[in-house]
Amino acid sequence: MSKTVIPTPSQPLLPVANSDLHFPVRRIFCVGRNYAEHAREMGHDPDREPPFFFTKPADAIVHSGTHIPYPPATENLHHEAELVVAIGVGGAKIPTDKAQHHIWGFAAGNDLTRRDLQSQAKAARRPWDMAKGFDHSAVIGPLHPISEVGSMTSGRIAAYVDEELRQEADLSEMIWPIADVIAHLSHFVTLAPGDLIMTGTPAGVGPIARGQSCRIEIAGLSYAEITLT
Ligand code: MN
Repeated sequence: MSKTVIPTPSQPLLPVANSDLHFPVRRIFCVGRNYAEHAREMGHDPDREPPFFFTKPADAIVHSGTHIPYPPATENLHHEAELVVAIGVGGAKIPTDKAQHHIWGFAAGNDLTRRDLQSQAKAARRPWDMAKGFDHSAVIGPLHPISEVGSMTSGRIAAYVDEELRQEADLSEMIWPIADVIAHLSHFVTLAPGDLIMTGTPAGVGPIARGQSCRIEIAGLSYAEITLT
């Protein structure tokens, strides 16, 4: 072990559902505009664009059941219900028909977004990092192994804010299915064990206020729920 000049930062972990095991997280990639109705609600044509990617830092992860502070520098924090894919086997230029082999499992996630900062960034043609990659911005529930839940190519995905249904769709409505997302992303970076991919959100994104709770539900997976303080 090398001697370090400051304490070594802790490894972000995700709990594995129904066990005392954990999944160590390396990087978090996110897909933009992967459901047609959401692309339209954000003012884009879903038929014209290949998938694109942005990232969150691994230490932005928040476990389900947590109370988190309302983030600074925003007055318009939005929920985005998303299926999270956990990579168990790395690779580059992965063919679509081999993509499933690289998946360890799945979780429900919430890509928390400072929508006001994102709108400003888009208008100024600046990066999205401060709109997407802030502290506590990656709410991710317990992971379920693909051996138990299957390939998750269909099933209900929903977001509730204080029990009010805000987003509801089916995973089969993704413009770029999970295998295509892995294939595309692995042409830009070499994927490695521990990488996560948040696969985009359906229509119905909207604000969460201070004091409210937000729960993401995906059929067959544990919830990803937070309360803002
Ligand atoms: Mn998103």
